[in-house]
Amino acid sequence: MPLRIAVLPGDGIGAEVTAQAMKVIATIAECFHHEIVMREYPVGGVALETHGSPLPEETLSACQASDAVLFGAVGSPEHDDNPPPLKPEAALIQLRFRLGTFANLRPAVMHPALVACSPLRPERVQGTDILIVRELTGGLYTGDPRGIDATPRGRRGINTMAYDEGEIERIARIAFQFARQRRKKLTSVDKANMLEVSQLWREVVAHVSADYPDVEVEHLLVDNCAMQLVRRPRDFDVILTENIFGDILSEEVAAVLGSIGLLPSASIGDGVSLYEPVHGSAPDIRGKNLANPIGAIGSVALMFRYAFDLHREADHIESAIWRVLDRGYRTPDIARDGTPVSTEEMGDLICREIRQVARESSR
Ligand code: NAD
Repeated sequence: MPLRIAVLPGDGIGAEVTAQAMKVIATIAECFHHEIVMREYPVGGVALETHGSPLPEETLSACQASDAVLFGAVGSPEHDDNPPPLKPEAALIQLRFRLGTFANLRPAVMHPALVACSPLRPERVQGTDILIVRELTGGLYTGDPRGIDATPRGRRGINTMAYDEGEIERIARIAFQFARQRRKKLTSVDKANMLEVSQLWREVVAHVSADYPDVEVEHLLVDNCAMQLVRRPRDFDVILTENIFGDILSEEVAAVLGSIGLLPSASIGDGVSLYEPVHGSAPDIRGKNLANPIGAIGSVALMFRYAFDLHREADHIESAIWRVLDRGYRTPDIARDGTPVSTEEMGDLICREIRQVARESSR
């Protein structure tokens, strides 16, 4: 049976980085003799223009029928004033919800060759290796009630941060399991000094931790966590947090590591899983062949590992990325030194390196 990948390039640089990720998938298929079928579907602003919906039914059912989804990014300035259900970003929220991908894994590793790209001193950032486990389908982005109401004092905006125990427990268990496979340290991030939803979060995480006595747990308030990530990023192993805190903290970690273009992610849950770079559609650099495709290509490595259970292929992709960086090739976002390359050239270099790694390991 071929592996079926639904590819949703989306808007802005989403399409540019996804094209490089698809080249990598094709190269892995060729080197390791896998039959892989990739088919593209519209999503986001592109889909609004062609289908009148950010997530057309055809796209959703193709994702549900696939073995994995590769996602680029959504968001375009032309649609910023649309009502919420007709914003490109609505597609991603709906897709995560419909696929049941409640756990977003965001590995963030400091590559030794990129230490100069970090705004932090080398001795502070070297060796940073964090896995952010972000709850993805609950919290403020999906909670009810929501909206903008008219009141006698003018309009009032409302969003709701709500989690039930079951939602907290299932994401906590995933984070503890990953912590077990890593350095056995878990930092649960909340705002329990101010929010009832966070008090429940902390209680449930503490309860779940009893089943993982080998994992050391600390509870940090989100504001303190934001500060400690800059002061001592190397001390973190697994960070477990809810949706919006995870969204914000992972961008901070991206900045600490040098560029948001480097970070991959995997969204897993009960069914089909989704793989996408952490960054957005970057309208400021779209269409210029400047975007860093490493986050998207790293997401393909996560796809081979988690969706297909093909660990050797995933390792090959990650080693190829590291080797290309070691050789000094740099897209503009990480170009403090080395040889400047475009989005496409970076994709080609990584594919070339995958072939080389595959040849070396078959000798
Ligand atoms: P962004 O991540 O698109 O860009 C932030 C900054 O990082 C920009 O300066 C951009 O040029 C740079 N950047 C991002 N990715 C890069 C890459 N691969 N290589 C080099 N530089 C890169 O965030 P934003 O500007 O806040 O949002 C732009 C649009 O993207 C908005 O419409 C937003 O809603 C959307 N967005 C979508 C997603 C998603 O689809 N998952 C995530 C975040 C934001």
